[in-house]
Amino acid sequence: MTAEPPQVESPGAAPLLEVRDLAVRYGRAVQALRGVSLRVDEGAIVAVLGNNGAGKSTLLRTISGTYRLSRAFVEGGSVRLAGKTFTGADPGRLVTAGVVQVPEGRRIFGRLTVDENLRAGGIRQRDRAERARSKERVLELFPVLAERRRQKAGLLSGGEQQMLAIGRALMASPRLLLLDEPSLGLAPKVVGQIADVILEINKQGTSVLLVEQNAEMALELAGYAYVLELGRVSLAGTVEELRRTDEVQRLYLGGGAPDLAGQRGERRRPALARWTDQARRAG
Ligand code: ATP
Repeated sequence: MTAEPPQVESPGAAPLLEVRDLAVRYGRAVQALRGVSLRVDEGAIVAVLGNNGAGKSTLLRTISGTYRLSRAFVEGGSVRLAGKTFTGADPGRLVTAGVVQVPEGRRIFGRLTVDENLRAGGIRQRDRAERARSKERVLELFPVLAERRRQKAGLLSGGEQQMLAIGRALMASPRLLLLDEPSLGLAPKVVGQIADVILEINKQGTSVLLVEQNAEMALELAGYAYVLELGRVSLAGTVEELRRTDEVQRLYLGGGAPDLAGQRGERRRPALARWTDQARRAG
């Protein structure tokens, strides 16, 4: 059955990214994604939550075409951008089409300077004027990178390296930015700075698909979110809906707290329909 990716965030908006029934394997033994469907509307920030091994990075790698580098293969399903199919396309084609991934762990070039890292990000941008505009935008967003332009990237702090990784991705002027755990290993104050930057990037017109284990941060930023469990979407909804579910409270927001509404005798808010139920109704 084909699951219709739900979207209730902005009813009139056009889908930028549509992932349908994506099934991805690493070799014979590991099935990392088992029929994942999701959608990112033009101008949206969409979050994907999930525990270790849920399939979040595999999902982003499959969308960006970089999955082959980790010897994964697509068994079924599709990835569409602005109505065109890109399933299995090479990463370069996706960058040209406007999809750029910031991988988990930053992967900046430590021996190159900040400037050289940024230049590498803009390598597929042939239009010099556009490249210059992108660089100006990046240095405005991250003044610390402007100060450290000639410094080796490996000498930057973890937060600065994350900023550089995002800045490098922005050099390709993406329509859709894929962010894999940008808060990983960063102090709370720095996480706050990264969150502000993500909001600003989105305000300037870039759609964002954000994978995070830091659910608090992700649900602050996103309008719509999906929960991945063992390679399947187990929950999907607006962040307001997801925040109200027992599962998200318990597993991701540290809520083991007593149910105050229940104690006051108020009617409990309904738990969000399981994704599988939604898919069944849509199918
Ligand atoms: P994490 O937050 O720990 O990175 P994740 O949600 O991003 O977790 P994935 O990294 O996508 O999850 O992993 C999904 C499944 O695929 C896991 O069972 C993982 O062990 C497996 N997997 C991931 N990368 C590879 C690989 N290169 N080779 C084999 N199996 C892999």
